[in-house]
Amino acid sequence: MRERPIVAIDGPSGSGKTTVSKRLAQRARLTRLDTGAMYRACALAAQWAGIPWSDGERLGRMCAGLAIGFRGEGEEIRVILSGKDVSDAIRTPGISMGASEVSAHPPVREAMVALQQKMGEGGGVVLEGRDTGTVVFPDADAKFFLDAHAAVRALRRYREWGAGEGKTYEEVLKEVLRRDIQDSTREHSPLRIAEGAVVIDSTTLTVDEVVEEMLRGMPETVGGTGGGGKP
Ligand code: C5P
Repeated sequence: MRERPIVAIDGPSGSGKTTVSKRLAQRARLTRLDTGAMYRACALAAQWAGIPWSDGERLGRMCAGLAIGFRGEGEEIRVILSGKDVSDAIRTPGISMGASEVSAHPPVREAMVALQQKMGEGGGVVLEGRDTGTVVFPDADAKFFLDAHAAVRALRRYREWGAGEGKTYEEVLKEVLRRDIQDSTREHSPLRIAEGAVVIDSTTLTVDEVVEEMLRGMPETVGGTGGGGKP
């Protein structure tokens, strides 16, 4: 057991990972590491450099030298790419699809996973993403798989950016389903439930209810209130 825990939260788009990991980070005094934001930053950097999202080899080389970092604490964590605050620029629907596309290339995943492992190796972190409990830290101290019905996940996304992008709920639902398929059927590190992960369905739960369930799934020694989320 590490002195400072590593907590891994995986799940599909809109399952509540970001909101929940923010709250959990506060409660258990952990640093949040948003791995999806890193793939988003990669898609944006590719756009800046004129590299197509389909070109895995060039993207991999680009990612290996990419300066991605996080600044700030708690709710206010900002994503910094090559010295620029890109926190808002990476949240558009276009970049969401781009992130899903670039993240399917093995050279991109290799570069990102290495970076994530380096960032989290000291412990005291909660990682959120698609493969944080399966690939990045399979030996995490607690693992969770957060899910929710697609209709509810799409509604959350619609409220987040549907209006701003002028999209209908049906269009957002279609995009959520498309990204689900892309993320869970890809050959490399597809979205799946990690061995030993506690599965939580957030469809009808509040953020606090999910966080309480997570804390119960974490041993007291790592900031939780329960017996542990590890087999
Ligand atoms: O979680 P978020 O929606 O920000 O992630 C954007 C995209 O990045 C996902 O659709 C997924 O394709 C990819 N991703 C990934 N592995 C992770 C985190 C995100 O492949 N650990």
